[in-house]
Amino acid sequence: ASGTDGAGGADLVARDRRAVWHPYAAASHDGPLFAVASAAGVRLTLTDGRELIDGMSSWWAAIHGYRHPVLDEAVRTQLGSMSHVMFGGLTHEPAVRLAETLVAITPEPLRRVFLCDSGSVAVEVAIKMALQYWTGRGRPERTRLLTIRRGYHGDTSGAMSVCDPDAGMHHLFSQLLPRHLFAPAPRCAYDEPCEDADVAEFERLFARHAHEVAAVILEPVVQGTGAMSFYAPGWLARVRELCDHHGVLLIADEIAVGFGRSGELFGCDHAGISPDIMCVGKALTGGYLSMAATLCTDEVAAGVSDSPAGAFMHGPTFMANPLASAVANASVELLLSSPWRDRVAEISAGLAAGLAPAAELAGVADVRVLGAIGVIETRDPVDMAVIQPLLVELGVWVRPFGRLVYTMPPFITSPADVATLTDAMVEAVARTT
Ligand code: PLP
Repeated sequence: ASGTDGAGGADLVARDRRAVWHPYAAASHDGPLFAVASAAGVRLTLTDGRELIDGMSSWWAAIHGYRHPVLDEAVRTQLGSMSHVMFGGLTHEPAVRLAETLVAITPEPLRRVFLCDSGSVAVEVAIKMALQYWTGRGRPERTRLLTIRRGYHGDTSGAMSVCDPDAGMHHLFSQLLPRHLFAPAPRCAYDEPCEDADVAEFERLFARHAHEVAAVILEPVVQGTGAMSFYAPGWLARVRELCDHHGVLLIADEIAVGFGRSGELFGCDHAGISPDIMCVGKALTGGYLSMAATLCTDEVAAGVSDSPAGAFMHGPTFMANPLASAVANASVELLLSSPWRDRVAEISAGLAAGLAPAAELAGVADVRVLGAIGVIETRDPVDMAVIQPLLVELGVWVRPFGRLVYTMPPFITSPADVATLTDAMVEAVARTT
């Protein structure tokens, strides 16, 4: 069931199966696998010539679609001067410009930018900043992180340690992972008010452990990969208040939701709050190259400098890669100069209308949409070996996970393509649940 029998696709899949390891898969997995020959606009072209409308933006990243002329040109131009130089003791214009832009567009107190190479690393950097901050402020016992269930923050050790403890990572890697604190995920949905009862458990846990907590870490408003759910901005605002009350740092992981996906530029903007540390990635480069960033306030930066090490102890080889910085600058400029709010609103309306019929299906527990994110939650886990080829047959690239059949298409997706996407999702769920 590979669908790759033309133009070398079957051969490619066979070679892949012998040598390649895929994400969250056994080394010798025989699940559906499709060979892509090229990608342009919102379409992926398979090696057998079939075109799929991309509903995933390559995991939240390709907000402008593929092979955007402006982004292609940014990489080409940057190649003409330098592709990479180390960032220890050297700097360059693309990185400086990117840092200035990120400071300008994120909430005001965030003034310092650490450029790194992936979302998971940005989360590691955020955690290390928080811990070093507290050693600098004479409170080295503040080493625990407080987070919520159903979160996802990446696959490196620090990031895994704050992922949902039931997601599998914790018992597999318990020898590696420190014991952090997990409150229940917020019960109040995006459009509901946040009542005292909704934060009560979080508040209790916080009050009991605040003296040992370095930071609260959360995905603001949209819990991505772990839940695909949208919670009340009022809940986030309450958490900010609690952090202020207990003198604890707030880390906002905007890696999935940042750069307009939720209908606001950042998830924090829904609640009008600013975190002490913010992580961005994925759509930062429009999905062109791997780059992420961790921003912090002057106070966090000063605390880190006051720590016994003095310096912040992190320095990836590919930090501030000039090609990635250049395409990130181009991607952010392209986004900000586009009518992205209108586009996201239009996609949102299309997703809501198109996915609504799924709510009538017996196998469906919930249908929800926020910004350019649409989710069908099924009652039982979907069978990937069945639903994935079916979605491809229906002409779309959507990658379900567990009980979640979801889409976050590029912002350039037309209403007609959104309709094709949602029709295919509803049909695939109807035929497989
Ligand atoms: N944080 C969030 C909210 C994410 O959704 C992800 C990736 O899905 C990460 C962190 C990890 O990013 P990366 O896969 O670039 O390491």
